Amino acid sequence: MQQLTNPSPAPFTVPTQAGLGNPAYRMRVLSRLMGGIEITRPTGCWLWNHGCSRDGHATVSFQGRLRLAHWVAWILLVAPVPAGVDLVRTCHTRQCSPQRSCRHLRCVNPRHLVPA
Ligand SMILES: [Zn+2]
Ligand SMILES: [Zn+2]
Repeated sequence: MQQLTNPSPAPFTVPTQAGLGNPAYRMRVLSRLMGGIEITRPTGCWLWNHGCSRDGHATVSFQGRLRLAHWVAWILLVAPVPAGVDLVRTCHTRQCSPQRSCRHLRCVNPRHLVPA
């Protein structure tokens, strides 16, 4: 299956690994994120419906700024993302129509992300 690289996230920046905050803060962000998703069947997408960028990507406040929510989910649930690595959605493909407003852009399920 063909994958698309996410469009440029600017002006919504990806979270930095520095200053991830203490465990209590990370847990608060995580519970806000998990409490606000809608799990869709049969794809298993975790759709975040509480804010998105102009190009359709889910955003959430983290480290004092609006961030791309799928990056926040990955960092909090999986691992830090090395510099230069992008996160590509496996659920959002070239077959999706329309591309720019596809709801997969609001998916924050880490199982639907691969570092690329
Ligand atoms: Zn998905
Ligand atoms: Zn899609």
